[in-house]
Amino acid sequence: MGFATIAVHTGSEPDESTGSVTVPIYQTSTYAQDALGKHKGYEYARTQNPTRSAVERNVAALEGGRFGFAFASGMAAIDATMRLVKAGEHVVVSDNTYGGTSRLFNSILANYNVEFDYVDTSDPLNVEAAIKPNTKMVFIETPTNPVMIVTDLNEVSEIAHRAGARVVCDNTFMSPYLQRPLEFGVDIVVHSTTKYLNGHSDGVGGIVVLNDEEDANWIGFVQNSAGAILSPFDSWLVLRGTKTLALRMEQHDKTGRAVAAFLEEHPKVRKVYYPGSVSHPQHALARRQQYGFGGMVAFDVGSLAAARTVLESVNLCTLAESLGGVETLISHPATMTHASVDEAKRERLGITDGLVRISVGIEDTDDIIADLDQALDKIEQDFED
Ligand SMILES: *Cc1c(COP(=O)(O)O)cnc(C)c1O
Repeated sequence: MGFATIAVHTGSEPDESTGSVTVPIYQTSTYAQDALGKHKGYEYARTQNPTRSAVERNVAALEGGRFGFAFASGMAAIDATMRLVKAGEHVVVSDNTYGGTSRLFNSILANYNVEFDYVDTSDPLNVEAAIKPNTKMVFIETPTNPVMIVTDLNEVSEIAHRAGARVVCDNTFMSPYLQRPLEFGVDIVVHSTTKYLNGHSDGVGGIVVLNDEEDANWIGFVQNSAGAILSPFDSWLVLRGTKTLALRMEQHDKTGRAVAAFLEEHPKVRKVYYPGSVSHPQHALARRQQYGFGGMVAFDVGSLAAARTVLESVNLCTLAESLGGVETLISHPATMTHASVDEAKRERLGITDGLVRISVGIEDTDDIIADLDQALDKIEQDFED
């Protein structure tokens, strides 16, 4: 079965008792049992919920994995995944991973004697050099936010596996339509479903997908024990979202390419960050491991003043954090999503004051480009540097 067919059908088989073609929202905390020790596989809703199971099966199938576990947020999904690592163990992490991820690692998990080292994983040799005898996990994000650095999934997986470490990939930016890390040897995929999987900017959630049965049993045990489960209603929203994932990603990808091409030619734009651009240093790698390039584009207009002009002059694009929704969002990483990253590191990563990030939505491509064009034109009037 193809991706779009799986997206519509897996987990969404018609309800046996009524024939309902959509999975009902099982808004219940508990389940009636027939007799002592005799039940229908459902006892208590932290442990099992049919709506949650449906979305877990659906997203696991989309990633090509056997097991899925849905959580209350992307961070809860990552936190549960990190419970595979124990005190005294070491984790190698992509150095510009999502800010919430490094906060969880440095400010919380480090207190429990888990050790983290951050390296530029775009060069697999850096991962190799960071491996220690107690390294049990390599945690990568590709492409990274917002400067779209790509990591070779296959090479990093081989290096990690030689050292007996698991590889986790945060696949939020690509969605399984555009990248399926398990196909390249990655062991565990995590998502913030808040972004492309839900896709409509109306729910927060996360999911973990993996193949290894023992690790899956542990993640399931953590899900039930710590209890950061995705609610029935939010599960239903994600399930509704993934039905159109293929269509939405096609449009995000098409417009992402067009917006990047437009920006590359614009005289007010100094630099464009998009793995689909031939100017991207890892364009060939992105082509090899991705099925497209997606809707995240970052560009540098040279100064805070110029960035402010763009951000305050757009009409269709909405100034907001987050990404992956049907509407185009525009943001300023240096003062918004990456404000907590120290200045030297921001500079090194290219997260300058002039950097603007767009999550292109599914509006008409021409309308998005026209909006950016008129906003960029305003730079000229206000600032000449
Ligand atoms: C948003 C995001 C997260 C965190 O997800 P929440 O749903 O906000 O908890 C993790 N990783 C990436 C890449 C994200 O964009």
